[in-house]
Amino acid sequence: MHRNTGRPRATRALARALSGTALAVLAFAAQAADPFAACLAQLRGPALKAGVSGATFDTHTAGLAPDMAVIGLLDAQPEFKTPIWDYMAGLVDDERVADGQAGMARWQAELARAASRYGVDPATIAAVWGVESNYGRTLGGRPLLTSLSTLSCFGRRQAYFRGEFYATLKIIQDEHLAPDRLVGSWAGAFGQTQFMPSTYLRLAVDFDGDGRRDLVDSVPDALASTAHFLKRAGWNSALDWGYEVRLPAGLDTAGAGRKNKRPMSYWAKQGVARVDGRPLPAGDVPAGLLLPAGKSGPAFLVTRNFDALYSYNAAESYALAIAHLSDRLRGGGPLAQAWPTDDPGLSRAQRRELQRLLIARGYDLGEPDGMIGARTRTALQSAQRELGLPPDGRAGLKSLRALQAGKPAD
Ligand code: CA
Repeated sequence: MHRNTGRPRATRALARALSGTALAVLAFAAQAADPFAACLAQLRGPALKAGVSGATFDTHTAGLAPDMAVIGLLDAQPEFKTPIWDYMAGLVDDERVADGQAGMARWQAELARAASRYGVDPATIAAVWGVESNYGRTLGGRPLLTSLSTLSCFGRRQAYFRGEFYATLKIIQDEHLAPDRLVGSWAGAFGQTQFMPSTYLRLAVDFDGDGRRDLVDSVPDALASTAHFLKRAGWNSALDWGYEVRLPAGLDTAGAGRKNKRPMSYWAKQGVARVDGRPLPAGDVPAGLLLPAGKSGPAFLVTRNFDALYSYNAAESYALAIAHLSDRLRGGGPLAQAWPTDDPGLSRAQRRELQRLLIARGYDLGEPDGMIGARTRTALQSAQRELGLPPDGRAGLKSLRALQAGKPAD
């Protein structure tokens, strides 16, 4: 904005020095009054070093206000630890299988093309899409510039989030995605693939050929970018992610764990077998024994492809949901072994029914959306007391059955 004023060099240098002092004074004054504005002023230099132009920075930080709710979310200790069977029941339900199969039919040609370019099969790509954004239906509603500038200036991980903030500005500047399309999770994951901005810059691809890498409004770009991510994470098209298996009685499970891989032949020799009766792959493919709920729950042998799924979101339960959903999308059935609980988790359809039943009992929950948030849990706790159930606020099958029966449980 102030480039090339035509003044002599010495005068310009003096002006720079003065304006630098003036800026410092202003920044000092602002810091007392408005720590967020002072912080943004400090981010300008590093943003420019990261490749953001002054004009981009000034345009898109003007008028930004922090959203302190995201700091609360950063620090939130989940007050309610989700059991794996609740997590899996909500993420891999009949609805998500049907929606995924419809999506695979709709985008069959693009999925086939992405599969041949990146070596990741269509069901795996679709399963990531389904878990990340419910096939593009749930993208998150928080503006990235607001969330990431807030996280850059307050809270525990400012250095990390500053990188993501600069990446967001670069996406707006270089990729021409509109700021109002860049909405996502509180931490800045956005679009149909829920990539972080820096992941977008590294790995997003333009697959529909319009010259833009658009993970928000282009399904082909989103599907191919997911496949590209998995390929870069080490996906091997010759391997399955793994298998649900049955353990022989008395197997020593001390060596269980995703990372503790041994040859398939070792596991076969121990008597570990696939639940569908088919043989384990012969040879020395490395596989780890995964026991998400301990020895008495479902068991899995997982290959390095499972690690590629894990790298998408660094949680084994998450990787397992994608892996199992991919099997369901290929026509496979539910898990053969039950989770070790007498109170199974609910599908999203059952969660909506539970919410409708709570509403019918007079609780104000808004529209039943199948998302069990604080409001549903509080209402459920109160209903559980009325029904003679332990008031833990957990939306499980026992509570649903009691609500359906509409009288105190015996
Ligand atoms: Ca595109």
